[in-house]
Amino acid sequence: MTGESDLTPLQVAIVGCGIAGLTAAIALRQHPMINVTLYEKAAELKEIGASIALGPNGLRTLQRLGLHSAIDDNVAFRGPSNIPMIYRHWKTNEVIGMDVHENVNEYLHYTARYHRAHLHQALLENVPRDIIHLKKKLVSAKANPNDGVVLEFQDETIATADILLGADGLRSGVRGAFVPDVVLKWSGWTAFRAVFDTSLAASIPNLPEDSTHWWGPDTNFFASRLGKNAFTVVGGIHSNPDDPDAAYKGVSWDQEANVKLLREKYTDWNPVVKSLVDITPSIRFFPNFSCGSSLPTWVFGSRATLIGDAAHAHGGAFATGGSLAIDDAYAFYLSITFVFPVTATQKPSPTEIQKALELYEATRKPHADRLLKTVHAAIQAKRATVAAGTFETDQELRERAAKGSNTTWLHEHDVVKAFEETLRRERLLVESSEGIPAKL
Ligand SMILES: Cc1cc2nc3c(=O)[nH]c(=O)nc-3n(C[C@H](O)[C@H](O)[C@H](O)COP(=O)(O)OP(=O)(O)OC[C@H]3O[C@@H](n4cnc5c(N)ncnc54)[C@H](O)[C@@H]3O)c2cc1C
Repeated sequence: MTGESDLTPLQVAIVGCGIAGLTAAIALRQHPMINVTLYEKAAELKEIGASIALGPNGLRTLQRLGLHSAIDDNVAFRGPSNIPMIYRHWKTNEVIGMDVHENVNEYLHYTARYHRAHLHQALLENVPRDIIHLKKKLVSAKANPNDGVVLEFQDETIATADILLGADGLRSGVRGAFVPDVVLKWSGWTAFRAVFDTSLAASIPNLPEDSTHWWGPDTNFFASRLGKNAFTVVGGIHSNPDDPDAAYKGVSWDQEANVKLLREKYTDWNPVVKSLVDITPSIRFFPNFSCGSSLPTWVFGSRATLIGDAAHAHGGAFATGGSLAIDDAYAFYLSITFVFPVTATQKPSPTEIQKALELYEATRKPHADRLLKTVHAAIQAKRATVAAGTFETDQELRERAAKGSNTTWLHEHDVVKAFEETLRRERLLVESSEGIPAKL
C-alpha cells in the first residue's frame, strides 16, 4: 500500500492533562497525520498547586516547541544573578553555597520559577479545547500489539486508539493497569507551601532578590519570587515514616493547614526567614510521595507507555519534575516521528510502533532510573537520621551546602542529544552534514 490516499491518521490517546500530557499533545499535534485526544479526570482545569521550577532542559524543550509565551518573563521569574539556587545559613543568613548554570548561554534557558497554574495555563492555551475530555478518570486499559489500545473510564465509557500515553501523574491509572503492584511511599517529608502576592514581602529588610534556600539542622526553608508578581515560601518537617504516630502522617496533598505551624517551626531562624513566615497569610500541606523502585519497563503491550510522574514518581526532588515531564513528552514525540515522519505515506506498522516506544524508553528510562536511585539513597539516609534523632553538625551542614546539589546532569540534560545517542547505539542514525536522523 502506498500513496497518500492510504494514510489514515495515527490516533494517540493521552491520559492526564498535566504538564506532561499537555506538552505531549502540543508536540504531537505538529504532525499533520497524528490525532491527539486528551482524557482528564478533573471536572475542570482550575488553579491548584504552588510553585514549580523549570530548569534549562525543560525551558529549552518548550522553546523548541515554539512556546515562547510559556517561558518568557511575562509568566516566569528568573533571579537577577541568574544563579539557579543560593544556599544560606539558617541562623546567620550568610551565603554558604550555590548551584550555578554550567553550560547555559541563553537568557531564556536560565532556571525559571512559576506558579504551577500559570505554567499549566500557558501550555493549555496551545491545546484546542475540543480535544480535551474532562471527567474521564481512567480505570482500566488494555493494549494489544496488533489492534491498539482500549481505555475504560469511571463513567463506564470506552475509548480506543493506536497508542496510549499515560501522563496521569503520581497515582497513574495507566501505570496501575499495566503494573498493578507499584507502591507509593511517603518519604516522611511534609512541605508547608504558600503562594501570595509579592507586595506582601516588599518591605522585608534584606530580602534576597534571588531564589534562596536556607539550610538548617533539621529542615530547610525556601523563598522565591515567581512569575506574574507571585511569591512563594516552602517550609516543612521531616518525620520518620515508619513511626505510626509521625507528625502529619496521613495529611493529603493540597490540604489546608494552620499557618501557625510554619511560624512556630521557624521561630528561631534568622530575621529574614522570620519576617517571611510572619507575612505568610496561609499554608497548605504537600506530603512527599515517591515510587519505591523504578519500573522494569515502560512499554506495555507494544502500544502503551508512560511519561512524567506516571513513569518515574520521584517525589519532586531537585525541583525537576516539570522539566522531566516536558523532556519525556518531547522524547516520545521524537520517537514517534522517527518511525512516522511527516513525509510518511503509511501509518506505522505494529512493529514500528513498538520500535518507537522502545526508542523512547531507551532515551529516557536510564536517566529517570539514575534520578530515582539518587532520590531513594537520599530518602534512606534522611530516614535513618530522623529515626535516630541525630542532626548534622554546623560544620557538616556548611560543607554540604558548599558542595551544592550536583545536579547539572539533570538540569542541563539535552533530550535531543540523548535521543540521537539512542539512535547511534541502535545504529539507526546515519550521520549527515545536517545531523538529520535517517529513517529506519
Ligand atoms: C493539580 C496539581 C497541582 C500541582 N502542583 C504542583 C506544585 O505546586 N509544585 C510542583 O512542583 N508540582 C506540582 N504538581 C506536580 C507536578 O505538576 C508534576 O510533578 C510534574 O509537573 C509532572 O507532571 P505530570 O504531568 O507528569 O503530572 P501531573 O502534573 O500530576 O498531572 C497529571 C494529570 O493527570 C490527571 N489524572 C490523574 N489520574 C488520572 C486518571 N486515572 N485518569 C485521568 N486523568 C488522571 C491529574 O488530574 C492531572 O491533571 C501538581 C500536580 C497537580 C495535578
